[in-house]
Amino acid sequence: MTLQQATASTPNDGSADAFCASGSSPTRDRQLPEAPPQALRGSVELRSTHLTDPAGKAPHVAYELAGNPTGKLVVVLGGISASRHVVANLADETAGWWQKIVGPGQTIDTNTCRVLALDYVGGPDVPLASGQSVSTHDQADALLGVLDHLNLARVDDFVGSSYGGMVALAFAEKHAERVDHLILVGAAHRSHPMATAWRALQRNIVQLGVEGDEAKRGLQLARGLAMTTYRSAAEFDERFANGNGNGNGPAFPVESYLDARGSAFADTFPPDAFALLSESIDRHAVDPASIAVPTDLIAIASDALVPPWLAEELRHGLGGPVRLRHVESKAGHDAFLADTVPIGRAIADLLAVPKEATASPVTRTVRAAVGTDQGHGAVMPPLYLSSNYTFAELGVKRQHDYSRTSNPTRDHLADAIADLEVAAGAVVTSSGMSAVALVLQLLEPGDLVVMTHDCYGGTHRLATRLAARGTFQLEYADLTTAAGIAAAAAKKPRMIWVETPSNPLLRITDLDAVAAASRGCGALFAVDNTFLSPALQRPIEHGADLVVHSTTKFINGHSDVVGGAVAAATTELQAEIGWWANALGLAGSPFDSYLTLRGLRTLGARVRVHQENAALIAAVLAEHPAVEGVYYPGLSEHPGYDVACRQQDGAGSLLSFDLRGGQAAVAAFVDGLQHFSLAESLGGVESLVAQPTTMTHAAMEPAARAAAGIHNSLLRLSVGIEDAGDLVADVERGLARAGRIR
Ligand code: PLP
Repeated sequence: MTLQQATASTPNDGSADAFCASGSSPTRDRQLPEAPPQALRGSVELRSTHLTDPAGKAPHVAYELAGNPTGKLVVVLGGISASRHVVANLADETAGWWQKIVGPGQTIDTNTCRVLALDYVGGPDVPLASGQSVSTHDQADALLGVLDHLNLARVDDFVGSSYGGMVALAFAEKHAERVDHLILVGAAHRSHPMATAWRALQRNIVQLGVEGDEAKRGLQLARGLAMTTYRSAAEFDERFANGNGNGNGPAFPVESYLDARGSAFADTFPPDAFALLSESIDRHAVDPASIAVPTDLIAIASDALVPPWLAEELRHGLGGPVRLRHVESKAGHDAFLADTVPIGRAIADLLAVPKEATASPVTRTVRAAVGTDQGHGAVMPPLYLSSNYTFAELGVKRQHDYSRTSNPTRDHLADAIADLEVAAGAVVTSSGMSAVALVLQLLEPGDLVVMTHDCYGGTHRLATRLAARGTFQLEYADLTTAAGIAAAAAKKPRMIWVETPSNPLLRITDLDAVAAASRGCGALFAVDNTFLSPALQRPIEHGADLVVHSTTKFINGHSDVVGGAVAAATTELQAEIGWWANALGLAGSPFDSYLTLRGLRTLGARVRVHQENAALIAAVLAEHPAVEGVYYPGLSEHPGYDVACRQQDGAGSLLSFDLRGGQAAVAAFVDGLQHFSLAESLGGVESLVAQPTTMTHAAMEPAARAAAGIHNSLLRLSVGIEDAGDLVADVERGLARAGRIR
């Protein structure tokens, strides 16, 4: 049975399940998108569990499956007080607990998805016999029971917030074959001790209440205390800073608020259920390395219970593909309920990633837009050169109208780059410099940008001139040290700009550290990722907001196109850069986009050979007496080696080295080469050698060059994909000549 057949049918085991007839045709549903979705409700006896209900029998877990019966399956679980009723539906028209995120036309769109949720085992509706504890793995097993009962083979997306995210991880650990993708909001692999301390106090208060015959009051106080951990000090300040109580009740408005929230909770939630589920949070433990299901993490900046650092820890530990999105919100851990706009946006971005995203990046790159041609079934997407497109009829635009705004060929390339960079979207530009200019366009007069002092010379030139005109304020800084990053953040910039590895000395900047500092000071974090390409480094996974490329380099890879791209972490930023690209006319040409997409398909294979060759050459250089120093992040003595190991998937294929013997030795070395062209640029299939002082960095002031460590004796290699033996022999020949000069 296919998944679609399975879910369109009603289970026939006599349970209370029934798809609530909407009485409307699909066409009518489309016209009335706000009509509540259809729903299937029922309950399942958990036969395979050690847990028992108060009568000593297997517990029953109730579920709701709401939405399009043939749509993809999204499991949605929330905090411990959430239930199976996520969204108003035809079976229960009362508002659900995630009504702002789930529903017709909402982020999780019930017009196109089926949303499955269940009541937690041990919660108010699934009581357990006393003395038992329940784990997140038990909840995962309960979900498995529901899926089996409904004949649902696989979950397409598991969106778990708070406790629900912990259950998602437990499910992925235990039943990986049943889920394709996790999205976790404010959830991690473990509880941190301070959060456990807060919850332990709450449980003790509840216990005290029960023992003193004040169960409700105890729960009210515990929930009040919990609220202080769910929200942030900044949010409370915004809401409650003004005014005191009126003398009749609690002394402070914030106290009244906690009382009210606590009492509302105590009216509906049994104290034992609260204690059981609260403890389940603290007992939660999964081994991240054992989880290979592709996972997206959403970390909320002000979340004290699952702080961004814990999400980072999970990101580093997970055994499969993982992306981490940071969301700015004052609503703390409760942001998934209280600040649904940014959370909804982040979830929408992550749900928008096509299913094929679960394949490896190499496969996705090779197959980008393959088979999308509707006209003739062409395997490779055709090139659309047309500058304009007809309207379908008067006033009715097609997908494209004018190629400066959008073009099918360029869009394929943009989508492929966005996919590789784990971005919400990308804009393809006419050159790397137009990509740089596009990002700088986001700055306004008075805004400060702190830029890495050893950025690409063209970027340096443009930023310096724009700053001199007052377009924005600019400071250059060394961002390779913690002190440098802290000093930059202390200036409260609007943007921090990093290139790592840097040119030409391959210095490494810690992306996680800069991302944390940027978030702390509210700066946009932009990274020029040209030197590594998304095959080896994906800055958005480390918290960058914008990624810049000169696609002239590795992405096209054949030194026959000048182009650029900007990838954005959020749809908002993508819309903004898209607007500017169109308004300024910075978009790349369709033909260049076509060639670049062709080049991009082989990125994975090229980068593999590039790196193998570069590592061999670095080893030869490191051992050779004619060489004074080698700059390559793949060598363990490189100062950025540890950070590079953490944030890069490889050392790349650019390296620099100082020759002994000055300019004469440099000339002799270059003269001895047959398979390296003396040329600027990098990242093409062909090997290149450049002397930065006379070529790439000639425009830099000699004093600034010397201060940056760029001397005449320095040579930069862009190692190509020629035969490794030929390249090594070539370098050895050059070194032998250079060695004779001394
Ligand atoms: N960024 C970096 C790191 C570069 O190396 C370059 C060019 O060398 C650029 C941006 C500018 O790209 P383009 O020459 O495609 O305009």
